[in-house]
Amino acid sequence: MPPHTLFDAIIIGSGIGGLVTATQLAAKGAKVLVLERYLIPGGSAGYFERQGYRFDVGASMIFGMGQKGTTNLLTRALDAVNVSQPSIIDPVQIHYHLPNELDLKVDRNYDKFLQNLIAYFPHEEKGIRRFYNECQQVFNCLNKIDLLSLEEPRYLMRVFLQHPLACLGLAKYLPQNVGDIARRYIKDPQLLKFIDIECYCWSVVPADMTPMINAGMVFSDRHYGGVNYPKGGVGQIAQKLVEGLEKAGGEIYYQARVTKIITENGQAVGVQLANGKVFHGKRIVSNATRWDTFEKLLPAETIPDNENNWQQRYQKSPSFLSLHMGVEASVLPAGTECHHILLEDWENMAASAGTIFVSIPTLLDPDLAPAGYHIIHAFTPHWIDDWQKLSPSKYEAKKEQVAGEIIDRLEKIFPGLDAGLDYLEVGTPRTHRRFLGRVDGTYGPIPRRKLQGLLGMPFNRTAIPGLYCVGDSTFPGQGLNAVAFSGFACAHRIATDLGL
Ligand SMILES: Cc1cc2nc3c(=O)[nH]c(=O)nc-3n(C[C@H](O)[C@H](O)[C@H](O)COP(=O)(O)OP(=O)(O)OC[C@H]3O[C@@H](n4cnc5c(N)ncnc54)[C@H](O)[C@@H]3O)c2cc1C
Repeated sequence: MPPHTLFDAIIIGSGIGGLVTATQLAAKGAKVLVLERYLIPGGSAGYFERQGYRFDVGASMIFGMGQKGTTNLLTRALDAVNVSQPSIIDPVQIHYHLPNELDLKVDRNYDKFLQNLIAYFPHEEKGIRRFYNECQQVFNCLNKIDLLSLEEPRYLMRVFLQHPLACLGLAKYLPQNVGDIARRYIKDPQLLKFIDIECYCWSVVPADMTPMINAGMVFSDRHYGGVNYPKGGVGQIAQKLVEGLEKAGGEIYYQARVTKIITENGQAVGVQLANGKVFHGKRIVSNATRWDTFEKLLPAETIPDNENNWQQRYQKSPSFLSLHMGVEASVLPAGTECHHILLEDWENMAASAGTIFVSIPTLLDPDLAPAGYHIIHAFTPHWIDDWQKLSPSKYEAKKEQVAGEIIDRLEKIFPGLDAGLDYLEVGTPRTHRRFLGRVDGTYGPIPRRKLQGLLGMPFNRTAIPGLYCVGDSTFPGQGLNAVAFSGFACAHRIATDLGL
């Protein structure tokens, strides 16, 4: 690279949000540079390898890899830079193991899922159908339109003229939360608890605080494009996006930690790395969290008012405690599903270590583990405060103790798990903070109190001219397909600003 190169866009971070922004811009002919602090791309959608196992660091229930409609944003992002990623159909989104013997599978087939649920709550059949059908209405509106920047008035006008009813539908649901709609149709308190965990397992807040737009996506797309596991592991998505980025003329540097966003006359014009190197760009995009961006990469004392206001509305969600296990295949009973949720007491749903999430990706792609073994990734919310100020020996002892408790609980669904363990690595909130570069290891922003649906989530532009944010602390929030949406929107807005 010649000295003093001026990039059209510099993207800080190669999470899926950052990579979709970068590839979209590169595909439009922009000169793009991605700077990633870690060794590989992907962030929370990355991977690591140990003793013949390839573990996903986080995400493993992947939406957006379907072949139809407009909401298959991961497929579209890969297509845009002429790469593709084969995926494997997951026939059941989640197998829930819930209090009061509520043992339920969310089948890919919508009618089968409804039948499974109605079998537990026959007196609520009408309410169940009306609630989930309303979620489908939201999805049908989304799935009609090209999902781009809501900050671009000409695009909004064009979409409105093409699909006025879909747009009005979305405008109606934008300020609404799931809980209010669920209670319109459903009275049974146990069933309302089930709707809570249906939301919590991806939004990490109960239905009352979960935006209806996001629920419309998740509760419907699982039966439409479906949940599909990328062959070779989730890390492949980022690897392929990087391949496409480079084919399209973009560049990415690893071990390139940005420590400062450089501003001139209040405008973002470049970045500085930990090693002192400086890069200049017409536009700067941060894929770091908003807290990291505005409190660490810019002077914390000059945080813009609207960011302070945002922090009054949203707080950091907890991080996770993750157990990455290699187990003998005999541990898994025949017919075991890939994704599970275990909760023994409704009161503990949102508590630290309350709900346990489980992924067994080798049931879909056996090549991720040595022959005769499976991967079990079990994770549960944990706060970083419980892991601070521990001596190295106390830290290790706590990891062992907490992992033992999780394994004991998982024995209920996988008897013989402890005896069948071949490999175990425990990640704490400190691990998430260190390797994912996320403040306190947080999963992302969650409302501090009940808000008006998604209305409070910021789009990509920021109060600092030339600086944009992308990823899970922008509209519409967490999840790979959601951050891909944010990437499409960010690139669209920048391309418009640059006249590309
Ligand atoms: C345990 C766990 C399970 C999950 N399960 C699912 C799931 O099943 N399905 C799903 O869809 N989603 C899931 N998610 C959520 C999903 O992984 C995230 O919402 C999404 O990956 C976030 O993407 P992002 O682009 O916003 O940022 P990130 O993935 O956080 O990536 C940001 C990147 O920026 C880099 N970076 C940060 N600061 C700097 C800096 N200063 N300089 C250079 N680089 C920097 C980081 O290293 C990182 O690579 C899960 C998350 C976790 C943690």
